Amino acid sequence: MLVIEEKYKPIAEILLSSGTCLRCVLRFCCVGSPATYRLPHKELAEELGKFLAIDGDISPPSKKVRLEDGEGGMGEAQIPGDADDNSAAEAPQICNLCLGILQQHCSTEFVKKIFHKVQSAGYEFQDFVFPVSLPAQLLVREHSAWLQAQQEMRKQNRQFEKADIIQLKEAYKWIIHPMISEELGVQAVSKSLFEVGVVFCHHDTDEDCHFLATVCKDCFKPTKNKQSIYTRMAVVKALDKIKDDDFCNHFPWPPSSPQIACQVIDIQCNHGSVFVAGRYNKYSRTLPQTPWVIDGERKMESSVEELITEQLMAVFKADSFNFSSSGREDVDVRTLGRGRPFAIELVNPHKVQLSVQDMKDLQQKINNSDKIKVRDLQIVSREALAHMKEGEEEKTKCYSAIIWTERPIGKKDLEFLNDLKELKLIQKTPLRVLHRRPLASRSRIIHTMKTEYVDEHHFRLYLKTQAGTYIKEFAHGDFGRTVPNIGSIMKTTADILELDVESVDVDWPPALED
Ligand code: ZN
Repeated sequence: MLVIEEKYKPIAEILLSSGTCLRCVLRFCCVGSPATYRLPHKELAEELGKFLAIDGDISPPSKKVRLEDGEGGMGEAQIPGDADDNSAAEAPQICNLCLGILQQHCSTEFVKKIFHKVQSAGYEFQDFVFPVSLPAQLLVREHSAWLQAQQEMRKQNRQFEKADIIQLKEAYKWIIHPMISEELGVQAVSKSLFEVGVVFCHHDTDEDCHFLATVCKDCFKPTKNKQSIYTRMAVVKALDKIKDDDFCNHFPWPPSSPQIACQVIDIQCNHGSVFVAGRYNKYSRTLPQTPWVIDGERKMESSVEELITEQLMAVFKADSFNFSSSGREDVDVRTLGRGRPFAIELVNPHKVQLSVQDMKDLQQKINNSDKIKVRDLQIVSREALAHMKEGEEEKTKCYSAIIWTERPIGKKDLEFLNDLKELKLIQKTPLRVLHRRPLASRSRIIHTMKTEYVDEHHFRLYLKTQAGTYIKEFAHGDFGRTVPNIGSIMKTTADILELDVESVDVDWPPALED
């Protein structure tokens, strides 16, 4: 049983007589029950016929029916048919408000088309979201119908706001979500990471919007990346501004009935990013963290990033990735200990569900390289990534270095270094990074140092420092740009021959059992 409030009768009549489809009539009569929109066309036509007290059986499509003479003297009106009724030879009249969206694009054929598209795209998903892009002129047509409806309601001394109308997108979802859901075998969920997006266009009526640009010039500014200035946003803004009279002069009621329905220009599948985190060790002094390319020429054959992501990309079947880490080491610096936390965003992955064992296998594959090792490899949430960067500046880092001194040294010359605690440095931006970082002075702390004598020109230095300390510069002084430095403290010229990161004190990602 169809429930429409009596007060909306004039709206239904005026829309039906102008070439609006039954479902759009429901929308403008503020029918908020999704089930009503899913009724087969024939049933809906009968119910609406009863409501409007139209004599006889109304059967679609495009059958001329006699409407009772209302206030406006309606005369003959057409009840446009839906595509559901393929049995009829006569093509259904395309709705002048939804341009066929609630007619042809709710059909089982269309849903099958979506299903095949999803299937051939080869995604793994547990639910879906169905974003729909509609042509902007639908807004103009909707506005036109709303003004008519509003006029009718005013005759009854009633308000009728645009927000009272059931949105086309809403009604469309009510009809099509259950159908897609059944085909795909999963639920529609508004926050789903798996998107099946449909883009509609209707070239025949594209010009509907154009008069708005002459009336509301400043709403339509050319924007980058947009093919047309008539974006939905601009049209909404213009419709909000334009005076009713101006609108009706430029866009008289009723809107034209199109010959063909909206066309689907694209059905696109996309899966939200998956994030994988872990910690890596780097054992090579000729391996940069990220690809090292200068003027299009590779300087090193591989990188930590590539060694890890090659395997991930293959398993997750993603389109692209973004690599990030808790700090970075120079190409000639090894990262030892428990390694450096990293995270990789896999963009548009086709595979998203990996078992604990799958992840272990993946980790093993990466670890077949002798240059790096990863541990604690796991899928994490986007939000959890923040932990990796959290307090990056306040954390401590531990290093070990081989230091060379010009002046011959004995074991006794090193002892005082072991006693220096919380040594404050001022470091000007190092010469070697000046080309990519602004010149600045900053202070850093060397918390503790420990030494191991090697020979009269070499010793090993263990350092615990504030994160972000330039260790190489602390060793050689960077032409006096870091003060104090090992050279100045030991009253000689010093240099650093080897550097290893011993630990990065970030407790993320969580350690996993081996
Ligand atoms: Zn319609």
